[in-house]
Amino acid sequence: MKIAVIGAGASGIMAALMAARSQNHEIVLFERNERVGRKLLVTGSGRCNVTNSGVSAERYACDDKAWMKRFLDLWGVGELEEVLRKLGLPLKATDDGWYYPLSESAHAVVSILEHRLRLAGVKLRVATTVKEIKAQANGEEEFEVAWQSADGLFRERFDRVVLAAGGKAYPDLGSKGELFDALGALGHQIRPLIPALGPVYVKLGDFAALKGQRFDARVAIYSQERCLGQAEGNVIVTERGFNGPGVMDLSHLVGLHAKEALTLAVTFPFLQSKTFHELAGLTGQNLGSLLAGWLPPKIAERLIRRAGFSLAEPPGQESLKHLIAQSNLVFPIIGTGDFSRSQVTVGGVPVGEVSAETFESRLAPGLYLVGETLDVAGPCGGFNLHFAFGSGYLAGAYLARLNQPY
Ligand SMILES: Cc1cc2nc3c(=O)[nH]c(=O)nc-3n(C[C@H](O)[C@H](O)[C@H](O)COP(=O)(O)OP(=O)(O)OC[C@H]3O[C@@H](n4cnc5c(N)ncnc54)[C@H](O)[C@@H]3O)c2cc1C
Repeated sequence: MKIAVIGAGASGIMAALMAARSQNHEIVLFERNERVGRKLLVTGSGRCNVTNSGVSAERYACDDKAWMKRFLDLWGVGELEEVLRKLGLPLKATDDGWYYPLSESAHAVVSILEHRLRLAGVKLRVATTVKEIKAQANGEEEFEVAWQSADGLFRERFDRVVLAAGGKAYPDLGSKGELFDALGALGHQIRPLIPALGPVYVKLGDFAALKGQRFDARVAIYSQERCLGQAEGNVIVTERGFNGPGVMDLSHLVGLHAKEALTLAVTFPFLQSKTFHELAGLTGQNLGSLLAGWLPPKIAERLIRRAGFSLAEPPGQESLKHLIAQSNLVFPIIGTGDFSRSQVTVGGVPVGEVSAETFESRLAPGLYLVGETLDVAGPCGGFNLHFAFGSGYLAGAYLARLNQPY
């Protein structure tokens, strides 16, 4: 069988490698960039955070949790770890469950995968952009793929197509979303594409003076009184609002509720902790020295001054109560970063339109949709590469029909 894999990101590379295990297939991997895995190179700040011990259906923004669970039952952390190890990429986990290659090098990951593609006999067509995918009108599972390279525009027939062209996030790295129209023409629904895992812009008020400061907090987005979502993690004050994993995990909610007046609530869970209140009781303690143990000095000072105290204020019951109440910060939201600043895409093809076991389209048999083309997005921490590698693996393994783990 002749199989086209469109897009050499995490999902397409994995699909091509797995499908190529069958001696009967000719696999052609199309990639618009000069090299495969361009986006992989920048993941995890160059360290490539591939999965997370917390992977579960609930953690993903996906409207069909049962579908997601079926996928994760087939592709958990253990499966990903085993497959990457066999490809020459052993992993290690941090104490909080974020998995990285032992080399901690995204460059090494891409070089190894590229080497594996060549060994597997996958035909790499880099610097080549796919323009169109059409189902043949003859009733067979056949497709015509139109592609453009420096030599011109070509049309070629394939028995199967794996679409792994990503969403629209970081378009400079190659994914621009131009094949969604072709998917629409093939019968698929395309949900609006929204940037996710990006900065949230707010009216900072007196926090504007704290640009560059980082701290841990609980963050929630509200529409009036309704909490749309919350997360905990590190946040960074930027010129226009907040960035960092804490807010990035929620940024898509701003796009999904674009017409509503939204606020960002920032709170500090440590203020409720037993240890904090024990430390408040230490002899000679003042608010300045107490908060200095939990927050960067400038943030600590801002919270104390907002509450109307000086750093030397003793942490009596009343002053603590007032400080805690005043530390529930609320910022009006004015927007989010666009696709050029957001790591993934929410929207695209609903997962229910493909099989959770094989990723074959239920509407266009012979077509497989993997990775960010589907309407799935995970939080920071390796969840998105987990989905990209896993969807590519299952589609490729099904196409190879070898029924044995890699
Ligand atoms: C800065 C950054 C850091 C990130 N860090 C992490 C992390 O540490 N952990 C994590 O889990 N996730 C991370 N992500 C998200 C993760 O990288 C993506 O979710 C994942 O790469 C999606 O894989 P994919 O194969 O679906 O798409 P992509 O990786 O986007 O690959 C699609 C490929 O298709 C090619 N292509 C597109 N259209 C065409 C066309 N018409 N013709 C030919 N080729 C085409 C593109 O050039 C691209 O190479 C990060 C993302 C960014 C931007």
